[in-house]
Amino acid sequence: MVNLLDFDLDALAAYCEQLGEKRFRAIQLFRWVHQRGAADFGQMTDLARSLREKLAHRARVGALPVIGQHASGDGVIKWLFDVGDGNAVEAVFIPEGERGTLCVSSQAGCAMACRFCATGHQGFSRNLTTGEIVAQLWFAEHFLRRHLGRAERVISNVVMMGMGEPLQNYTALVPALHTMLSDHGYGISRRRLTVSTSGVVPMMQRLAQDCPVALAVSLHAPDDALRDELVPLNRKYPIDTLLAACTGYLARAPRDFITFEYCMLDGVNDAPEHARALIDLLARHARAGLRAKFNLIPFNPFPASGLRRSGAARVAAFARMLGEAGIVTTVRRSRGDDIDAACGQLAGDVRDRTRVHQRLARRHPVALPSAGAL
Ligand code: SAH
Ligand code: SF4
Repeated sequence: MVNLLDFDLDALAAYCEQLGEKRFRAIQLFRWVHQRGAADFGQMTDLARSLREKLAHRARVGALPVIGQHASGDGVIKWLFDVGDGNAVEAVFIPEGERGTLCVSSQAGCAMACRFCATGHQGFSRNLTTGEIVAQLWFAEHFLRRHLGRAERVISNVVMMGMGEPLQNYTALVPALHTMLSDHGYGISRRRLTVSTSGVVPMMQRLAQDCPVALAVSLHAPDDALRDELVPLNRKYPIDTLLAACTGYLARAPRDFITFEYCMLDGVNDAPEHARALIDLLARHARAGLRAKFNLIPFNPFPASGLRRSGAARVAAFARMLGEAGIVTTVRRSRGDDIDAACGQLAGDVRDRTRVHQRLARRHPVALPSAGAL
């Protein structure tokens, strides 16, 4: 049985051609599945009965079993989807005025082992398929329409900021992005579809060519010594290489800036000298054409991290320094933290196959000065 959620429109057209059907049939089928949320071919009354019967024998809409749903007081909803073999991934809906954002997972776990991230602490099990990535949006969009009684589209923005490193799952990611972008699918604009990466430089270059959507880069430190500790991938693609790749991306990007995410960790990366170093770094790369905005994320704690959230005054002072240097800076308001749905708290269930705990234990501890020393 093929899973129709694995196909972007071109792939569905190729599949329909194998069944002897023209492209416009593929468009009709694609719209039934993605725009109307249909999973039952019997419902698709404007398709010929013969086609519906063929599909019923060969194809399915591979929805994921929902094994948990948590609603936060602030309207955030988190779902836990079963992806088999003891693995489960999470997606989070964040309503904000007219905007509805879905945060989508790309992998069961993550192999990047970032120090401050709950997913990173769980290790890695496997890449999600295109169908499993799309299934999160398919379910959330159509569930929310029913739940909120809306005929119109509910999800206007998608951020690939759930569990996993999307650019480590590139071949599954790109067709999923196509389906999200398609006018016959979810009609999300390129500017409202964001891929967030810890800095997989070669794949950033490919994304710019294949499917340039908005890009967010998880920076978290102004220098390689500190970033090596927080984001181990930095040892492979250090900051100057990463920022040069960001500058290159801008030539094709739908927005004229890259968003840098910076998780504010008390006593680790949140001092005035870190802000000054960032300003210098950005000024140096601005001369080569880099345009950037900063999004400061107060660290969302989880038990195993051993790290603390920066105080509000420290975050505000850091934001002010960047702002005064001409860098547009926002502080991300934490949403859904009462249900562990905030950035970096998504943990799902992961059958780790990478011995992450040994790897994390071997790492130098991040220096955590006592509060009095700051
Ligand atoms: N793997 C991708 C996307 C998923 S993480 C990436 O790293 O960019 C989405 C964002 O949440 C990243 O910026 C990540 O650094 C941040 N994040 C991870 N753990 C966090 C935590 N505990 N508190 C706040 N932000 C966190
Ligand atoms: Fe993976 Fe992103 Fe978490 Fe790092 S921050 S471990 S790349 S999900």
